[in-house]
Amino acid sequence: MVICLLTVSSPLSALDKVSLQLRWSHQFQFAGYYMALHKGYYQAAKIDVSLIEGGANSQAPLESILQGDADFAVSSSAVVIYHMQKKPVVALAAIMQTSPVTWITLSERKLSTPHDLIGRNLPILPPPESAALMAIFNREGIQLSDINFQPTRATLKDLISGKVDAINGYISNEPYRLKNMGYEVTLIEPKDYGVNFYSDVLITRHSLARSNPKLVKRFKQASLKGWQYALQNIDESIRLIQQYYAPEKTYQELKYEAQTLKALIMPDLVELGHMNPGRWQTIAENYRALGMAKGQLDLNGFLFDEPSRFDNWVIHVGIISAALIIMLSVIASRFIYLSTSLRREIKRREFVEKRLISVNNELKAQSSTDPLTQIYNRRAFFEKAQTLLHFSERKGFKTSLFMLDIDHFKRINDRFGHQAGDQILIQFCVLIKNEVIRDHDVFARLGGEEFCILMLDCSLSGAEQFAQRLIEKLSTTQLKVEGKGYITISASIGISDTDYGLEQALKQADIALYQAKDAGRATYTIYDANQS
Ligand code: GH3
Ligand code: MG
Ligand code: MG
Repeated sequence: MVICLLTVSSPLSALDKVSLQLRWSHQFQFAGYYMALHKGYYQAAKIDVSLIEGGANSQAPLESILQGDADFAVSSSAVVIYHMQKKPVVALAAIMQTSPVTWITLSERKLSTPHDLIGRNLPILPPPESAALMAIFNREGIQLSDINFQPTRATLKDLISGKVDAINGYISNEPYRLKNMGYEVTLIEPKDYGVNFYSDVLITRHSLARSNPKLVKRFKQASLKGWQYALQNIDESIRLIQQYYAPEKTYQELKYEAQTLKALIMPDLVELGHMNPGRWQTIAENYRALGMAKGQLDLNGFLFDEPSRFDNWVIHVGIISAALIIMLSVIASRFIYLSTSLRREIKRREFVEKRLISVNNELKAQSSTDPLTQIYNRRAFFEKAQTLLHFSERKGFKTSLFMLDIDHFKRINDRFGHQAGDQILIQFCVLIKNEVIRDHDVFARLGGEEFCILMLDCSLSGAEQFAQRLIEKLSTTQLKVEGKGYITISASIGISDTDYGLEQALKQADIALYQAKDAGRATYTIYDANQS
C-alpha cells in the first residue's frame, strides 16, 4: 500500500520548463543558479531552467513575476511591500542575510557619515530599490528633504567628476572598480546604522506556489544546492562565469565580488536561504517609516510553505495504518509462534515427566521386588518392617515374625529340575499371599527357599493359629509341576515376637526355625526365651 501511494505521488518523468529572472547582469551575485544548472542539480530535480539576465534596462524582477514573464526571480527585499499591497508574490529564500547596497564616496571628499551627506547631490533609484539607503537617513533623524536627491542613475564617472557626491552601488562591485582606478573609497553602509534588509530574495508568484508546490520546492532546493556548491568552490564557479556568462569580467573582479558576497550570505552561520519572520516584520517597519508601505504585515501566504513529502492526510493515515498493521501482525505472529512453541514445550515436558515417574516407579519396584516371586526382596523387607514396627510401637500393637524354610527343597530340584523348583517357589508365594497373610502383613523372600512374614497386630498366640493354618493349607494344596503332575510341599516355621527389635526377632525366629526342622519339619516352633 505504501509503495502504491509513493508511486502515485512521485513526479512525472518529463522536465518542467521554468525561467529565472536575475536581478542584474551576469556576475558572481548569481553563481548559485549557474552552478545548479551546470552541475545538473536542476536536471536532477526534473526542471529545465532558462536564465533571464537583468540590468539597468531590463524589467524589474518583481514585475516580471507579476506579469508572468518569469516563473522565478531574484528580487530585493521590496518583495514584502508588494505582498503588503496584496500583490501575489511569494518569498522562497533569502540568499543574502544582509543587503550589499551602500553609499559610495571617494575618501578624498571626506564624507563618512549620513550627516555629511546633508545638502549633497545624491542620485537615487526610484523606490523601493532605494529603500535601505533612504532608511539610513530616517534612522539618523535626517529629513530626506535636506538631501539633494537627483532622480537619475549616476555612473562612476559622475562620482569622479564631482557631478554627484556619492553614488549607490553594491559593496561587491563599484568599490573594487574604483580602487582599481586608483581611488580610495568610503562606504556608508545601511547595516552600520541598524538597517538590515535581506537581499537577493528568491521569489515566485502565488499561482505557481499554489498549483505546483512540489515544483517550487524542487526548484528552491536545487538552487540552494547550487549556492552551496558555488560558495564551496569559488574558483571553479568564477571560471564557469567567465566562460559562459561574463567574459568581460576579470578573475580578480569576480573573486572580490565572491568574497564580499560570501560575507553577506554567511553560509557558515546561517542556513542557506534562511528567512526569519521577525526580520521580515522589521524590514516592513522600515518600509512603513519611509512611507513606502502601509498597514501591518501579515506574513500569511508570503513565505513559501514547503509541501511535506507526503502532502495529504490520506497518505499520512495510509502510512500510519500500514505501519500499525505491519507492527500488529508482527507482534501477533510472534505471539502465536511463542504460545504454540510454549504449548509444545509444556506437552513435551509433561510427557518426559510422566515417563520419568513411571521409569522411577519401575526402578523402585525392581529394586524392592524379588524378580522370581514378585514379593518383597530382602532389602525391601527391612525397610518395610522398620516402618511397620515403628507404627505398631506407637499404636501399642503386638507384632510377630515368621521365618519359613521349605522342607527338602533340594529334592524337588533334584527330581524335577531347577525350573520346576522355580515354579514351585512362585506358586508357594501366591498361595501365602492370597490365602494366608493379610494386606498389611509384610511377606518377603530372604533368599533361596527362605521367607519371612511380619504379622501386624498379631500376638504369639495369634501367630500360632496362623502357623497352623499355613501348615495345613500347604498340606492340602496341590502345586503343579509342569509336565509331571502335582505335588504338595511342606515348610518349617520359626516364630518370635518383636519386643526386642527386628534384628533380635530375626535371630530368635531363625533359632526357632531350626528347632522346627529338628522337630521333624512341617511344623512350627515359637521361640522360647527361657530355653536359650
Ligand atoms: P531342609 O528341609 O533342610 O531345608 O532341606 P533343603 O533341601 O530345603 O535344604 P537346603 O537349604 O540344603 O537346600 C535348599 C535348596 O534350595 C538348595 C538350592 O538348590 C535350592 N534353591 C535355592 N534357591 C533356589 C531357586 O531360586 N530356585 C530353585 N529351583 N532352587 C533354589
Ligand atoms: Mg533352606
Ligand atoms: Mg529348605
